[in-house]
Amino acid sequence: MFRNFIDGEWVLGTDASKNINPSNTNDVIGDYARASADDALAAVAAAKAAFPAWSRSGILERHQILKKTADEIIARKDELGRLLSREEGKTLAEGIGETVRAGQIFDFFAGEALRLAGEVIPSVRPNIGVEITREPVGVVGIITPWNFPIAIPAWKIAPALCYGNTVVFKPAELVPGCSWAIVDILHRAGLPKGVLNLVMGKGSVVGQAMLDSPDIQAITFTGSVGTGKRVAAASVEHNRKFQLEMGGKNPFVVLDDAELAVAVEAAVNSAFFSTGQRCTASSRLIVTEGIHDKFVAAMGERMHGLVVDDALKAGTHIGPVVDQGQLNQDTDYIAIGKQEGARLAFGGELIARDTPGFYLQPALFTEATNRMRISREEIFGPVAAVIRVKDYDEALAVANDTRFGLSSGIATTSLKHASHFKRNSEAGMVMVNLPTAGVDFHVPFGGRKGSSYGSREQGKYAAEFYTTVKTAYTLA
Ligand code: NAD
Repeated sequence: MFRNFIDGEWVLGTDASKNINPSNTNDVIGDYARASADDALAAVAAAKAAFPAWSRSGILERHQILKKTADEIIARKDELGRLLSREEGKTLAEGIGETVRAGQIFDFFAGEALRLAGEVIPSVRPNIGVEITREPVGVVGIITPWNFPIAIPAWKIAPALCYGNTVVFKPAELVPGCSWAIVDILHRAGLPKGVLNLVMGKGSVVGQAMLDSPDIQAITFTGSVGTGKRVAAASVEHNRKFQLEMGGKNPFVVLDDAELAVAVEAAVNSAFFSTGQRCTASSRLIVTEGIHDKFVAAMGERMHGLVVDDALKAGTHIGPVVDQGQLNQDTDYIAIGKQEGARLAFGGELIARDTPGFYLQPALFTEATNRMRISREEIFGPVAAVIRVKDYDEALAVANDTRFGLSSGIATTSLKHASHFKRNSEAGMVMVNLPTAGVDFHVPFGGRKGSSYGSREQGKYAAEFYTTVKTAYTLA
């Protein structure tokens, strides 16, 4: 049994949930303790008690703990990457890649711990000095989704600890394995008791207890729009800082002048890699008339070559969907797309493999419009729709006609259109001739409109959320 971690101790929960491999539902990865609301409150109390000492801890200590963690994650990348692919269902290559990225994030913030700095500014009044410093916020609650089981916990835990906060961490119930491993590594790297607490279990119990606690000063959340709204409402109630990263309906524009091979590769990656279960996935392929038929034909050909199978098998391009609930959502939207009058040009069927798993052939719709539900609502699976447009201006208008704004992409050889799109796309991240997903670990990550709320994650911009600014005046 994998236990929760509260105040430096591994503790049992009320009961346990089974971590199941979506490539083979007979394969149980382990039993993971489920915390109660009281456990969550005990974790908050431990984090509160640990805050005074940790917030004043030396930067060298923080640097060393984060660096040791980074080194261990990278040294164990094959094993942890395998665990990730086994519990989430993305391919082994993707699992190892995500694990390396988690290590790099810890490494980056190990460095940031040594680069903490403030400003000294003269006052407008004579003989007075002004110092501007950043201080930790306090107890930070971290709530994460299932689709990036190691990278998202890493990009929240590493900056929280780097800047001197203490943490209560609740991972998604479907994928507790990688989160447990990160906490174990940080604990052995020398983190003092109470600084990082792990409470696994149900969102409605553990997460809700965190939202209702007046002793959490900041909550960073990644997940669905519905849960994000609850986090926001509860945080306003408690006058706490919060940050939300939520859904997307990311557009990928293909213009007549695009290089066909570049466009198809980026579109297939955006729509279907990681089984389409990325908040930055593109499910709207907005294609101008002149290249439309060639693009659709080339997509069909490329999709024929995609191997959908066990995530751990060599040669698999697309692993299974994460669970039965998500699979139902995907197939429901495929049915909705057909009813709405879009044409299912490729895929969309359930497929059987050697082991019982949630296998779905990636689906491509054509003849879709941007008004259809499949173009407006997040599906979160390997389902994409091609929307035909006249020209660049219409493509841009359609791309921006969504309540979301996380990422966007364009395939073009025109400098003019690429530059215009970078400036006018209403998204937090814009990609030119690249997939809408796949981001670096050292630069800001985040969206606009209904996709995000609050300051950016990752890179030095993370300091905005995990610190609070103090302005001090001194008479000379
Ligand atoms: P979810 O909202 O169901 O769950 C996210 C987390 O919130 C889980 O840990 C869950 O247990 C917890 N939770 C659920 N109810 C809660 C409550 N009442 N109080 C507190 N916590 C609660 O989302 P999910 O299904 O795990 O993840 C998929 C969603 O995440 C998709 O919409 C996707 O777009 C989004 N996502 C966004 C980004 C981004 O950066 N924008 C990244 C990855 C995933």
